[in-house]
Amino acid sequence: MNSSRTWKSGERCRISGTYRCQNCHLGGRDTVQAFEAGRILPMCDQCSDLDVTWMLRQVAPRAVTA
Ligand SMILES: [Zn+2]
Repeated sequence: MNSSRTWKSGERCRISGTYRCQNCHLGGRDTVQAFEAGRILPMCDQCSDLDVTWMLRQVAPRAVTA
């Protein structure tokens, strides 16, 4: 089971916001990407793992589109 704040690549993003790659984090890197709710979480382009875990760091504010 997932915790409430982590999702794997290939799962659907449920909360718009910025996410940290946990695989990178374990490797000492700090890779953060912003994803919008509804999109499928991608693989990380900073590490070669095929299956990465994204952890929600910060929920995006509403109505951020210009
Ligand atoms: Zn990564």
